[in-house]
Amino acid sequence: MERYTADMVKTLSEIVGASYVAADPATLFAYTRDASHFGGTEAAVVVRPETTEEVSRIVAYAHTHRIPVVTRGGGASIYGQPRGIPGNTILIDMTRMDKVIEINPTSMTVRAQAGIIMGKLQHVCRQAGFYIYAPFAPLHIVSLGGWMSGAAGSAGLWTDIISLTAVLPDGTVVCTGGGPGTNIHQKIYYNRNLGGPDLTGLFIGDGGSFGIKTEAVVRITPYPKVLRASIY
Ligand SMILES: Cc1cc2nc3c(=O)[nH]c(=O)nc-3n(C[C@H](O)[C@H](O)[C@H](O)COP(=O)(O)OP(=O)(O)OC[C@H]3O[C@@H](n4cnc5c(N)ncnc54)[C@H](O)[C@@H]3O)c2cc1C
Repeated sequence: MERYTADMVKTLSEIVGASYVAADPATLFAYTRDASHFGGTEAAVVVRPETTEEVSRIVAYAHTHRIPVVTRGGGASIYGQPRGIPGNTILIDMTRMDKVIEINPTSMTVRAQAGIIMGKLQHVCRQAGFYIYAPFAPLHIVSLGGWMSGAAGSAGLWTDIISLTAVLPDGTVVCTGGGPGTNIHQKIYYNRNLGGPDLTGLFIGDGGSFGIKTEAVVRITPYPKVLRASIY
C-alpha cells in the first residue's frame, strides 16, 4: 500500500506541483471532518488543483487505475461527504480554484471557478455593483461547486445557474449551455435555455456523482438598494 500511495503522490505532484499534494496523517485526518455528524473516511492522498485541465488529468489517472475520487468544496455539508474507500481514495480539494473569470454586464452573468467560496464571489460581484442570490447556505464556507451540487439543488435555486463546466468520471471535460457563436441570433452570451436537453440541470443537486464542476456561469442582478434578511 505504501508503494501504491507513493506512486499516487508522484503522479499527482507531476500534475499540480508537489506543494499541492499531501499524504501525511494530520492532513488526511483533517479532511475526514466536515460540518456533518457523520465524518468521512481517510483518503490516501489529498490534492489541490488550480485548473480544469489539472482536474481532468487527475480524474483520468484515477479512472485508469480504478482509484475512487472524492470531491470536496467548503466542507459545509450537513449530509456528510462521500465515503470513498478508506486509505485508497484521492480527495480533490477544490478551494484553490477560486478565481472570478468574468463579470459580464451585458448578459448579467458572472463566470467563476467552482472552488470559490460563495461569500468571496458575492463580495467581488458587489464591488462591481452586482448581486448574486445565494441564500440557504453558510456563505463564508460553502463553495460554488458545493452549492450547485447540494444546496442550490435541494433549495430549488438552480434556475440562476446558466451553464457549467464539468469533468466526467473518465476525465472528459464538458461545457453545458450555449455561449457566443452557438447561434448568431442569440443576444445573451450564456443561456441555459437554448432548447434541447437541460444538460446543466443534470449536474445540479447531483452531490457530485455525475462529474466534478470546475467552472460555472451564474445570473447576477444590479445590487439592490434595500436588502431584507430573515434568520431562522
Ligand atoms: C449552518 C449550515 C446551514 C445550512 N443550510 C442549508 C440550507 O438551508 N439548505 C441547503 O440546501 N443546504 C444547507 N446547508 C448545507 C450546505 O449548504 C450544502 O451541503 C453545500 O452543498 C455545501 O457546500 P460545500 O462547498 O461546503 O461542499 P462540501 O461539503 O465540500 O461537499 C458537498 C457535496 O458536494 C460535492 N462537491 C463539492 N464541490 C464539488 C464540485 N466542485 N463538483 C462536484 N461536486 C462537488 C461533494 O463531493 C459533496 O458530495 C447548510 C450547511 C450548514 C453548515
